[in-house]
Amino acid sequence: MRIDLHTHSAASDGTDTPGDLVRAAAAAGLDVVALTDHDATSGWDEAREAAADAGITLVPGLEISTTFHHRGVHLLAYLPDPSHPPLAAALDRILAGRTERTPAIVAALREHGIDITEDDVRREAGGSVAAGRPHVADALVRMGVVGDRTQAFTELLDPGRPGYRNRYAAELEDMVPLVVGAGGVPVIAHPWGRRGGTVLDAEALAGLQDLGLAGIEVDHQDHGPDQRERLRAIAADLDLVVTGSSDHHGLGKVDHDLGVNTTDPAQYERLLSLATSGVRLG
Ligand code: AMP
Ligand code: ZN
Ligand code: FE
Ligand code: FE
Repeated sequence: MRIDLHTHSAASDGTDTPGDLVRAAAAAGLDVVALTDHDATSGWDEAREAAADAGITLVPGLEISTTFHHRGVHLLAYLPDPSHPPLAAALDRILAGRTERTPAIVAALREHGIDITEDDVRREAGGSVAAGRPHVADALVRMGVVGDRTQAFTELLDPGRPGYRNRYAAELEDMVPLVVGAGGVPVIAHPWGRRGGTVLDAEALAGLQDLGLAGIEVDHQDHGPDQRERLRAIAADLDLVVTGSSDHHGLGKVDHDLGVNTTDPAQYERLLSLATSGVRLG
């Protein structure tokens, strides 16, 4: 059984529609795929229908933007009830922060001499409710300012670069119990990836576990072999669920092909057993 527990569709910053993503997952030989768009559950229904047609299992989830000691941390939440009022309110606030940030980024880039408009970004964001820097990057690629998303980030959109602007994110220590309250299963995405740095050490993870954290994503492209080994040891020590995923973004991220990392079936079963929302698999 091949299980990929973290992917993005065009409901956030992936490039496939939710239906196409699920069909691609089936074609890649996956038996289970989780749709985990940034701060959004709007792709769930379409993904569920496609999963039923394609004969694979869809795990509805999302990847929530949070902060922990002033660092950005992504929190995966599996099977939460999106209508749970505190969760719905938290997501509304995060999405508003995204919407408000786009004009600020556009203004900063214009000040930097790049003739980009909010419409250019809106066009790239298409049906996404979670407008983000990747859509700005896509607009910059289309304009020929940069060659690809990665170059857009490293030259213009990463912290310290001229087009970077901060946005609101929820506190991780509030969001973990909130996801549990919504009947979902909270798992930290790529804890030591990119700028995750060292804030999420064993002690911090133990503290988060006390708040309801269920697991950590160990097998992710941002983690090297040594990091994976150390994270696996921490998870074993704390008895946290271990997950693996592609963090697939369609054409939006290279080296993140569907199924490039997978989750052990026993870990997946344990994760499912922790969900209490009644939200159904697709
Ligand atoms: P945002 O949430 O709008 O601040 O954008 C951050 C998202 O951009 C991350 O979740 C990644 O999906 C994506 N991202 C970050 N860095 C890069 C990069 N170098 N190349 C492509 N995508 C990136
Ligand atoms: Zn993304
Ligand atoms: Fe992430
Ligand atoms: Fe992701």
